[in-house]
Amino acid sequence: MPVEHKPLTSVPAVVLARFWSHFIIAAPNECWEWTSHINTNGYGQIRLTHQGKTEAWIASRLAYYIGYGIDPGPLMTCHKCDNRRCVNWNHLFLGTNSDNVQDCIRKGRYKQPTKCPLSKHARGEQVGTSLVNADTVREIRRRHAAGNITFRQLGEQFGVTLHCIWSIVKRVNWRHI
Ligand SMILES: [Zn+2]
Repeated sequence: MPVEHKPLTSVPAVVLARFWSHFIIAAPNECWEWTSHINTNGYGQIRLTHQGKTEAWIASRLAYYIGYGIDPGPLMTCHKCDNRRCVNWNHLFLGTNSDNVQDCIRKGRYKQPTKCPLSKHARGEQVGTSLVNADTVREIRRRHAAGNITFRQLGEQFGVTLHCIWSIVKRVNWRHI
């Protein structure tokens, strides 16, 4: 997919509203199929023409931003389900280089947890799909503070993505603890 750096923090409200009406929400572990425009690369897209100028947003990038509160920026949103129309953020992860990531997946080196508690609205134990609880959050922060460990290593220890670890350590999530 083309790399788009358009900042998502300034997405017009009308685009966000359209996002929510353009896919079918299924079970948390299933693909949420985009039902609107698909671009030439096979990804869901929202196009908005304003004052004669057309802008486009990739649906899966919006999904990642909405689901995790993190703008992918220069990174790519990749689908672990290999379904480019899918906007279930539980199926999305960020990659720096699509070929590399695909290579890792092919070789079985890329380990993705089946569920990620990282959600903008997640407050840990209140969320049914949460893999971590207040104790693990404290333990993750303790191990990180102790040093000599990467986010990825912590993710492997706790069975969550490095982005989950990042959000916990940086207090993007679990701020209440
Ligand atoms: Zn999917």
